[in-house]
Amino acid sequence: MMTSPELFSIECKRCGRKHIFDQPYPYHAGFADQGFLYNDAGNLTFVWSMLDPVFEEIFPGKALWTMNLYHRWRFEKMLLPAPFGGLWRFRNPARCIQCAKPISGPMLRSIHYLVYPESIMTDQDKQLRLKEHLKNTA
Ligand SMILES: [Zn+2]
Repeated sequence: MMTSPELFSIECKRCGRKHIFDQPYPYHAGFADQGFLYNDAGNLTFVWSMLDPVFEEIFPGKALWTMNLYHRWRFEKMLLPAPFGGLWRFRNPARCIQCAKPISGPMLRSIHYLVYPESIMTDQDKQLRLKEHLKNTA
């Protein structure tokens, strides 16, 4: 199969399954002040902006890399579950869709992220929509 230069592909080291992502390279979260999480199944990505007013409100003045265990736990609890494949968690890696072997690290270990089909990007089109993905705790 030919891969166009706009698509990034990564092969699973265990089973050899080739994954093609609709992105030119693994995105660098730091360049855009983004955070990202994968679901438990490791086949969906959730991306948000640290500049999102809701994030600012919950964690004033916190950068993602200064969030401690408690902050991360709190944030995970606030998020609605992923559309499928479990919950969004900081410890979840991106996984092979065939054998579930990790193919890219979680945010705590990797600044780069992969975007699976049907992922949730809350900071696209110049809008910050993290709030829509939080549980209604009011
Ligand atoms: Zn695999």
